[in-house]
Amino acid sequence: MERAGSGAEGNRFQREEDLLRRVQSLLHRPEPHVVTGIGDDCAVLALPGAVDHLLVSTDLLLEHIHFELHQQTFQQLGYKALAVNLSDLAAMGADPLAVFVSLCLPRRCAASDIEALYTGMEELARSVGASIVGGDTSASADSLMLSLTVLGLAPPAAVVRRSGAQPGDRLFVTGTLGDAAAGLEFLQRQDTEPPASANPAAAASGPPAGFPEAVVRQLAQRYRLPRPRLSEGRWLARGGFASAMLDLSDGLSTDLHRLCEASRVGARLVLQDLPRSTALEAAAAFLQHGTEHYTLHGGEDYELLAAVPAERRETLLAQWPFRDTLLMEIGWVVPPQQGVKLITLAEREEVLPPGGFDHFAPG
Ligand SMILES: [Mg+2]
Repeated sequence: MERAGSGAEGNRFQREEDLLRRVQSLLHRPEPHVVTGIGDDCAVLALPGAVDHLLVSTDLLLEHIHFELHQQTFQQLGYKALAVNLSDLAAMGADPLAVFVSLCLPRRCAASDIEALYTGMEELARSVGASIVGGDTSASADSLMLSLTVLGLAPPAAVVRRSGAQPGDRLFVTGTLGDAAAGLEFLQRQDTEPPASANPAAAASGPPAGFPEAVVRQLAQRYRLPRPRLSEGRWLARGGFASAMLDLSDGLSTDLHRLCEASRVGARLVLQDLPRSTALEAAAAFLQHGTEHYTLHGGEDYELLAAVPAERRETLLAQWPFRDTLLMEIGWVVPPQQGVKLITLAEREEVLPPGGFDHFAPG
C-alpha cells in the first residue's frame, strides 16, 4: 500500500492520503488540546474544564464532482450534505451538537432552491438534536458548493478512532452495501440514454426499459438520502464494543484499507457474508456486474464498519437493539504482514486492493 516518496508524481498527488500526509508535514506539532488531529473521521479536541470531548468534522459537496443537480431535489441535496457530515460523527460515537453551513451559489440558483436546501438540512438537524448556527455564503462563477462543519460531543473514554483494531478482532458492518452505487449508476445511465421527454428532470425520474421502477427508486433513494447511523455508532462506542470504526463513504475495499493502515493491521473479508439487498441483487444482474462490484467497491453507503474484540462478539450479537438495522459479521483482523485479503466464494484468499473512490487517483 505505501508508496515511496511523497506520493506526488508529475507534481500531482496520486491518492487523497498522500495529500493529507503532505499537508500534515507542513503544520506544526498539534497543540496539547488536540486529542486526534488530521486523518480520522473527526478531529477530537479536549476543552479545558469540559467533561466531554468536542468532535469536529467537515465535508464538502461540489456540483459535477459529488452530484448533478437534476439527480435529486434541492431539499434532498440539503439533507444529504448534512447526513454525510453526521455520518462522520456517528463513526466516532459522538452526539451532534451544532452545524455550520457554507454555500457557494451560482446565479442560476433561485431563492426557492436555497430555501429548499435549508429545509432539507433543517429537517435532519432537528431530528438529531443539532442546530444550524452559522456559516458563510458566496457567489459562485459556475458550480454549486456546500461545505458543512458539524460539531459533536462524546465522553473521552467512548471516542472510537480508526486506529484501535487488534489482530483477532471481528469485523462488523451495519446495513446493506452497494445500494447507493447501483442507484447512482441507474441515475447516470438515464443521463446518457436518449430522454423520453424534453425535460431532463422528467427523463431522470423514468426507469430504464425492462427493469422495475420501484427497485430503481429504492436504490436511488439510498444514494440521495443516506441515513447517518448515529444511534448505532453511539451504541457501539458507548457500550465498549468497537475497538475501531469508520463510516463507509468511498467503498468498503478503500475504507477497510484506511482502517487497517490507521490500526497497522491486516484483514480478511468474507465475500459471501457481505450484506446485500434483494434490490441490489436484481440491479447487479440487470447492470451486468457481480454484486461484489457494488458491495466491495461502491461508495456512498454511509454504513459503519467496526472492529469488535472477539470476546465481545457474542454480547454484541445478543444485545444489538436496532431491529431495523442489519448487523453483519464480514471478516476479522489479522497481523499487518498478512495483508488485506478477500476470501472468495471458492474459499480462496485473494489480495484485496482498494477499489473504491479516490478523488486524486489517476483517471
Ligand atoms: Mg468518514
